[in-house]
Amino acid sequence: MQAPRNAKISPASRLAHGGGGIDPQTGAVVPPIQTATTFARDESYRLTSPSHLYSRDDNDLTRQTEALIADLEGGAEARLFASGMAAIAATVRMVRPEQTILVQSGIYWGTTLWLRKHCQHAGIALIEADATDTERFCETISESGPALVLIEVPSNPYLGMADIASIAKVAGNAGAVTAVDATAATPILMRPLELGADLVLHSATKALNGHSDVLAGVISCRDADSDAWKFIREERHDAGAVLPAFEAYLLLRGLRTLSLRIERMCSNAQAIAEALQAHPMVETVLYPGLPTHPGHSLATRQMHDGYGYLMSFITKGSAQDALGVVGRLKLIKRATSLGGVESLVEHRRTIEGDASGIPEGLIRLSVGIESADDLIADLMHALSPLAAGE
Ligand code: PLP
Repeated sequence: MQAPRNAKISPASRLAHGGGGIDPQTGAVVPPIQTATTFARDESYRLTSPSHLYSRDDNDLTRQTEALIADLEGGAEARLFASGMAAIAATVRMVRPEQTILVQSGIYWGTTLWLRKHCQHAGIALIEADATDTERFCETISESGPALVLIEVPSNPYLGMADIASIAKVAGNAGAVTAVDATAATPILMRPLELGADLVLHSATKALNGHSDVLAGVISCRDADSDAWKFIREERHDAGAVLPAFEAYLLLRGLRTLSLRIERMCSNAQAIAEALQAHPMVETVLYPGLPTHPGHSLATRQMHDGYGYLMSFITKGSAQDALGVVGRLKLIKRATSLGGVESLVEHRRTIEGDASGIPEGLIRLSVGIESADDLIADLMHALSPLAAGE
């Protein structure tokens, strides 16, 4: 069941209005924060409002934000969660003991770690495989018959590009649910449900909110009548990993500027990727917007209007040399996370450890909305062999 979309209004316009209209009673152009956790019944014990019983599922702000995100995704429904990990966990928990999950390797470390622990604990077989090798990955689907295929596009921190349409088709034929974590793309740049995925997930903590001040997650579905969606809807309601009203308010406010932020972040990222690629101290730049990226032509087909705000680059030399570059940055902040208006940098090997296999020189960059010239100047200074002796 595909939700109807208003073809006349662009995502930018829908976002600017927060997906809502003017309150007819007050004329308010932004919704109020509904703080009540519970709602009254009348003398005959009927709910005063049939759609308001208890705030675990009945918050108007949350509903408005969910409707806006579902619409942007071209999906039927969406549900917000207390974090991106809570959204991933709700998706994964639909898989029962003795079933199989096929997950893309080399994705967000937190997802991989939690999946390994959860699957061992729950008696679920977990297969980790490279989803950028479409043929081999699809063979693995057919051979292993997973209940769930989970991919991350583009992947964090390698910016790997999995072919969503091909994978979803083979997974669908094998009876598997395909879920795509599209955190590094946002629905402005990529709509996995329109490519055949069953579910699309985001850590809304990142670019959807965009201001590094809200933890949130969201799942949208293609078919609201599917078993997978019924499970997720109930899981959100019953297990209670809901997004509180104040966070929903901040997220909706952040969403209003999403298309503008993404436009600037993508053009900054492209300019930075090109400048880094030309630098003699840089071995490789992992950014799908570069024609040299192995997933460039796939990204061009499956993404719209830009290649995203996330990139990694690998510096020549040791981990200490890479940490020296990171340490010399002045404008770009050394902090984990991504998708905020401020650019952030992280040395992933330090975070994930030597066993992770992450190259020693890999530096992940989340590009913000600052001036591209200032960001490039900061990076060029940090990379300069002369600056190393400062
Ligand atoms: N998915 C991706 C791609 C991420 O990068 C992250 C966090 O960095 C998550 C999911 C988890 O999101 P959260 O931190 O909101 O739980």
